[in-house]
Amino acid sequence: SQALLQEDDDEAKATGYHADAAKVDKAKFPKYAAGQTCANCQLYAPDGNKPSGGCALFYGKDVLAKGWCNAWEKKA
Ligand code: SF4
Repeated sequence: SQALLQEDDDEAKATGYHADAAKVDKAKFPKYAAGQTCANCQLYAPDGNKPSGGCALFYGKDVLAKGWCNAWEKKA
């Protein structure tokens, strides 16, 4: 595991990353739909059963499984 991406990191702000998908403001992020989380995003790389894992977007940082960002993509 790696350092956790923080919401106030520049790359997090650039993609609208939220540590808790439930707190995403739909008015600001119209792409967001209830139920979307990093855990069910195509770009997420789970780390066993840990609460965080890798994301193809963020090199060297982990994201929370319950997080979300504007690049969310349905798992194929
Ligand atoms: Fe989470 Fe997917 Fe965004 Fe990565 S691309 S932060 S896994 S929602």
